[in-house]
Amino acid sequence: MILVSACLAGLPCRCNGTASSFAPVLSLPREAIYPCCPETAAGFGVPREPMELTGGRLVTRDGADFTEALEEAIEHLLGAADRRRVRAAVLKERSPSCGVHCIYDGSFSGRLIPGSGKLAERLRSWSVPLYCDEHLDPSAVYQDLLGHLGASPL
Ligand code: SF4
Repeated sequence: MILVSACLAGLPCRCNGTASSFAPVLSLPREAIYPCCPETAAGFGVPREPMELTGGRLVTRDGADFTEALEEAIEHLLGAADRRRVRAAVLKERSPSCGVHCIYDGSFSGRLIPGSGKLAERLRSWSVPLYCDEHLDPSAVYQDLLGHLGASPL
Protein backbone atom coordinates (compact mmCIF):
# COMPACT_ATOMS: atom_id res chain seq x y z
CA MET A 1 0.00 0.00 0.00
CA ILE A 2 0.91 3.65 -0.31
CA LEU A 3 0.58 5.82 2.79
CA VAL A 4 -0.74 9.26 1.87
CA SER A 5 -1.44 12.45 3.77
CA ALA A 6 -5.21 12.34 4.07
CA CYS A 7 -5.62 15.92 2.83
CA LEU A 8 -3.91 14.92 -0.45
CA ALA A 9 -6.54 12.22 -0.88
CA GLY A 10 -9.27 14.87 -0.71
CA LEU A 11 -10.18 14.74 2.97
CA PRO A 12 -10.90 18.22 4.39
CA CYS A 13 -8.65 17.77 7.42
CA ARG A 14 -6.29 20.75 7.14
CA CYS A 15 -6.30 23.24 10.00
CA ASN A 16 -8.58 25.56 7.99
CA GLY A 17 -10.98 22.74 7.13
CA THR A 18 -9.92 22.32 3.51
CA ALA A 19 -8.39 19.48 1.53
CA SER A 20 -5.35 19.72 -0.70
CA SER A 21 -6.14 17.11 -3.34
CA PHE A 22 -3.16 15.86 -5.34
CA ALA A 23 -3.90 14.28 -8.70
CA PRO A 24 -1.42 11.36 -8.50
CA VAL A 25 -2.97 10.27 -5.20
CA LEU A 26 -6.53 10.65 -6.48
CA SER A 27 -5.62 8.54 -9.51
CA LEU A 28 -4.45 5.55 -7.47
CA PRO A 29 -6.88 2.71 -6.76
CA ARG A 30 -8.70 3.53 -3.53
CA GLU A 31 -7.80 0.16 -2.03
CA ALA A 32 -4.09 0.82 -2.62
CA ILE A 33 -3.85 3.89 -0.39
CA TYR A 34 -3.76 4.32 3.35
CA PRO A 35 -4.81 7.93 4.12
CA CYS A 36 -3.38 9.23 7.40
CA CYS A 37 -3.80 12.55 9.15
CA PRO A 38 -1.58 12.61 12.23
CA GLU A 39 -3.11 15.83 13.54
CA THR A 40 -6.73 14.71 13.46
CA ALA A 41 -5.63 11.27 14.73
CA ALA A 42 -4.14 13.14 17.68
CA GLY A 43 -7.55 14.65 18.36
CA PHE A 44 -6.71 18.23 17.40
CA GLY A 45 -9.97 18.64 15.47
CA VAL A 46 -10.93 20.58 12.34
CA PRO A 47 -10.61 23.52 12.20
CA ARG A 48 -7.71 23.91 14.60
CA GLU A 49 -5.05 26.42 15.52
CA PRO A 50 -2.10 26.39 13.09
CA MET A 51 0.94 24.69 14.61
CA GLU A 52 4.61 24.75 13.70
CA LEU A 53 7.74 22.95 14.84
CA THR A 54 10.22 24.82 16.95
CA GLY A 55 13.15 23.00 18.48
CA GLY A 56 11.43 19.73 17.61
CA ARG A 57 8.30 20.71 19.57
CA LEU A 58 4.86 21.14 17.99
CA VAL A 59 3.42 24.40 19.25
CA THR A 60 0.71 26.95 18.50
CA ARG A 61 1.43 30.65 18.08
CA ASP A 62 0.55 31.05 21.78
CA GLY A 63 3.08 28.44 22.80
CA ALA A 64 0.67 25.61 23.67
CA ASP A 65 2.66 22.40 23.20
CA PHE A 66 1.03 19.37 21.55
CA THR A 67 4.15 17.32 20.84
CA GLU A 68 3.33 14.26 22.90
CA ALA A 69 -0.19 13.87 21.50
CA LEU A 70 1.15 14.09 17.94
CA GLU A 71 3.97 11.62 18.54
CA GLU A 72 1.58 9.15 20.15
CA ALA A 73 -0.81 9.39 17.18
CA ILE A 74 2.07 8.86 14.75
CA GLU A 75 3.18 5.69 16.56
CA HIS A 76 -0.36 4.37 16.27
CA LEU A 77 -0.56 5.22 12.55
CA LEU A 78 2.83 3.64 11.89
CA GLY A 79 1.74 0.42 13.58
CA ALA A 80 -1.18 0.26 11.17
CA ALA A 81 1.09 1.20 8.25
CA ASP A 82 3.42 -1.64 9.15
CA ARG A 83 0.55 -4.13 9.15
CA ARG A 84 -0.53 -2.81 5.73
CA ARG A 85 3.02 -3.28 4.35
CA VAL A 86 3.36 0.32 3.24
CA ARG A 87 5.91 0.56 0.40
CA ALA A 88 6.04 4.33 -0.17
CA ALA A 89 4.44 7.51 1.07
CA VAL A 90 3.12 10.71 -0.50
CA LEU A 91 3.03 13.54 2.02
CA LYS A 92 1.95 17.16 2.20
CA GLU A 93 4.93 19.48 1.99
CA ARG A 94 5.39 22.27 4.60
CA SER A 95 3.33 20.60 7.32
CA PRO A 96 4.91 20.12 10.79
CA SER A 97 3.56 16.56 10.66
CA CYS A 98 3.86 15.60 6.99
CA GLY A 99 6.41 17.94 5.35
CA VAL A 100 9.11 16.01 3.47
CA HIS A 101 11.69 18.62 2.43
CA CYS A 102 10.60 21.85 4.09
CA ILE A 103 8.57 23.10 7.02
CA TYR A 104 7.70 26.50 8.47
CA ASP A 105 10.39 27.82 10.77
CA GLY A 106 8.36 28.10 13.97
CA SER A 107 7.98 31.89 13.84
CA PHE A 108 4.48 31.83 12.27
CA SER A 109 5.71 34.32 9.69
CA GLY A 110 5.38 32.08 6.64
CA ARG A 111 9.13 31.50 6.41
CA LEU A 112 10.19 28.03 5.23
CA ILE A 113 13.29 26.13 6.23
CA PRO A 114 14.68 22.77 5.14
CA GLY A 115 13.31 20.08 7.41
CA SER A 116 10.71 17.38 7.82
CA GLY A 117 7.52 16.94 9.75
CA LYS A 118 7.35 14.32 12.45
CA LEU A 119 5.59 11.63 10.41
CA ALA A 120 7.99 12.11 7.48
CA GLU A 121 10.95 11.89 9.84
CA ARG A 122 9.74 8.55 11.23
CA LEU A 123 8.99 7.15 7.77
CA ARG A 124 12.43 8.15 6.57
CA SER A 125 13.90 5.92 9.25
CA TRP A 126 11.95 3.04 7.65
CA SER A 127 13.73 3.72 4.37
CA VAL A 128 10.50 3.86 2.36
CA PRO A 129 10.56 6.27 -0.61
CA LEU A 130 8.94 9.58 0.26
CA TYR A 131 7.19 11.82 -2.27
CA CYS A 132 5.58 15.20 -1.76
CA ASP A 133 2.84 17.18 -3.46
CA GLU A 134 5.29 19.87 -4.63
CA HIS A 135 7.24 17.52 -6.88
CA LEU A 136 7.97 19.18 -10.22
CA ASP A 137 6.61 16.26 -12.21
CA PRO A 138 3.39 14.82 -10.72
CA SER A 139 3.01 12.32 -13.56
CA ALA A 140 6.45 10.89 -12.75
CA VAL A 141 5.31 10.53 -9.12
CA TYR A 142 2.25 8.63 -10.31
CA GLN A 143 4.29 6.26 -12.47
CA ASP A 144 6.68 5.65 -9.56
CA LEU A 145 3.80 4.88 -7.22
CA LEU A 146 2.38 2.36 -9.67
CA GLY A 147 5.80 0.77 -9.75
CA HIS A 148 5.83 0.48 -5.94
CA LEU A 149 2.44 -1.20 -6.12
CA GLY A 150 3.71 -3.65 -8.70
CA ALA A 151 1.28 -2.34 -11.32
CA SER A 152 2.27 -1.79 -14.94
CA PRO A 153 3.20 1.81 -15.72
CA LEU A 154 0.61 3.43 -18.00
S1 SF4 B 1 -0.66 17.81 6.12
FE1 SF4 B 1 -0.78 15.95 7.33
S2 SF4 B 1 -1.45 16.63 9.36
FE2 SF4 B 1 -1.85 18.32 7.93
S3 SF4 B 1 -3.98 18.00 7.29
FE3 SF4 B 1 -2.70 16.97 5.79
S4 SF4 B 1 -2.60 14.89 6.55
FE4 SF4 B 1 -3.30 16.12 8.24
